[in-house]
Amino acid sequence: MPFSKSKLMEFPRDVVVGHNVIEDILELCDRINIKGNGLVVHDEITKKIAGEKVVVLLSKEYNIRDVVVEKATMSEVRKVQRFAKKNEIDFLIAVGGGSVIDIAKLASHKLKVPFISIPTAASHDGIASPRASIKENGISMSKEARSPLAILADTAIISKAPYRMLASGCADVISNLTAILDWQLASRLKGEYYSSFAVALAETAAKSLIQNASVIKPGIEEGVWIAVKSMIVSGVAMSVANSSRPASGAEHMFSHALDRIAPGKAMHGEQCGIGSIMMMYLHGGDWKMIKNALKEIGAPTTAKELGVSKRDIVKALTIAHKMRPNRYTILGTDGITKEAAEKLIRVTGVV
Ligand SMILES: [Zn+2]
Repeated sequence: MPFSKSKLMEFPRDVVVGHNVIEDILELCDRINIKGNGLVVHDEITKKIAGEKVVVLLSKEYNIRDVVVEKATMSEVRKVQRFAKKNEIDFLIAVGGGSVIDIAKLASHKLKVPFISIPTAASHDGIASPRASIKENGISMSKEARSPLAILADTAIISKAPYRMLASGCADVISNLTAILDWQLASRLKGEYYSSFAVALAETAAKSLIQNASVIKPGIEEGVWIAVKSMIVSGVAMSVANSSRPASGAEHMFSHALDRIAPGKAMHGEQCGIGSIMMMYLHGGDWKMIKNALKEIGAPTTAKELGVSKRDIVKALTIAHKMRPNRYTILGTDGITKEAAEKLIRVTGVV
């Protein structure tokens, strides 16, 4: 049989991470050879933090418009699309946290125009990933989008965001360690497509955070530098896999279950971090290493720190396997029993 495999991998072309790099936005645009009319997407807060500045800097060479968005919902995505079409926009620039970036990411995918990501906070590994988390009819969904054409992450700006966000982003990346084990299991048991390159990247990103946990503290800009680079590499791992597999397994399903049972209590990465402690125990791996790293970074490791009751944690564990039935994980097709879930949270000290 002739060779017939083919695969798409889309990567950011230009990534700049560092102190005050916001000043270099025009040079970045020049390097990626972007042309035409630009639309800056930001929210009320990120507009003041960096959006206004980006508009001023870019306006020296481009025709720039801006649009203020709210929560990451489909109606906001459509709002950006309408605005972009009306103003004949050729590229988007997202200035903001996860929600703003997710909106711009999906809008750029639908509009078939490139987008530049300028994160003002780093609360999950979506900075560079080809997927967007958007709410539709009140339910959060991971949608196919596109990777940013370029990323400009200013550590001076990100270090001023609430530290809790950065710690949550780190926990999201550390949770790659259990996502990888789930993927290996699915590959062995179900013959699922598996990429050792994607796994190497996702694992390196997580381990870099564990090794550097002592530097990732409030007020240390070097910690932001290490954390943001890991989040970007984690996103690249998803681009290599062309799916979220290397960064999303049973720990993410636990987080999605919590989103339904106890919505708005904790951040995505915080939930995934705790999920990862528990799933690593189920895998028979070194769950204490994950727990210690999360503690050192200052991410939650208990239900109490998460602000969620014991009952809700147990419930989330027992329904997690239903969140994404075609994604095979350590939870199998039947999930975990209430009794086993209660033992799990006791042994790992989550409750
Ligand atoms: Zn995640």
